[in-house]
Amino acid sequence: MQEQEMVEQLRAGHDPKLLPSEPQPLIPLVQLYARDVPTLPFPQGNDLLQVLWAPGYGIEGCSADVQVRWRPASQVRQVLRTPPEPAYVECDDHVPEPCLLHPEPVREFPPGHLLDEALDERVYRWCAQQSVSYQSDLSVAPGWKAGGWPAPFTFRDPAGRDELCCGECGGPVEALLSIDSSEWHGADGSWRPVEADPEAAKPVGHPYRSHAKPTKVVIGRGYTLQVYSCVGTPSHLPRTIMQ
Ligand SMILES: [Zn+2]
Repeated sequence: MQEQEMVEQLRAGHDPKLLPSEPQPLIPLVQLYARDVPTLPFPQGNDLLQVLWAPGYGIEGCSADVQVRWRPASQVRQVLRTPPEPAYVECDDHVPEPCLLHPEPVREFPPGHLLDEALDERVYRWCAQQSVSYQSDLSVAPGWKAGGWPAPFTFRDPAGRDELCCGECGGPVEALLSIDSSEWHGADGSWRPVEADPEAAKPVGHPYRSHAKPTKVVIGRGYTLQVYSCVGTPSHLPRTIMQ
């Protein structure tokens, strides 16, 4: 009888009456110190960037589900040993595995949608002759990234100006953070770090379960969530687009 009840409960989904109605704590997504990412522009007086989100399906757009905190690291007084957790997680693909970052600078080139038409044609003709892919191999680095060029639009049309703007003030935005579903793409993995052995599914002696997907975060069907911050007022809610 109990099993039958449980099956019915599972079929019915979550009972909204059982879920807490009060706002739930956000979970930490990324923490970056200015000293580790010297080319990322920090608002004056701040040297710590924290990005937090609600691990659900509301991470795209511009809402309180994704928030940025720019702050001076010296003002962080008390670090909680057990930070508050949300009572429920809507999408466990959005709960990152704890990772220690080892940032490395990467040189990249604009994504195809930001090249003018004539240059775009020349680049793609040259790439066809060389049997390389501008999008996958040469332009924008895949993986989690701070700053740089925004991710290419892979499954939808590039965002227009009406979408690519601050949701709070309507002002211009710029690429702040790329949250990717894997650190490299494609069969040949041209962006794969030399130390990541393609044969080793589980890196030996490595703290992460996978070199290619250390965070275990999956965006949609393996896309990138591009986080754009407001140029005029960086503390505004960021604009996020699945690309
Ligand atoms: Zn704004």
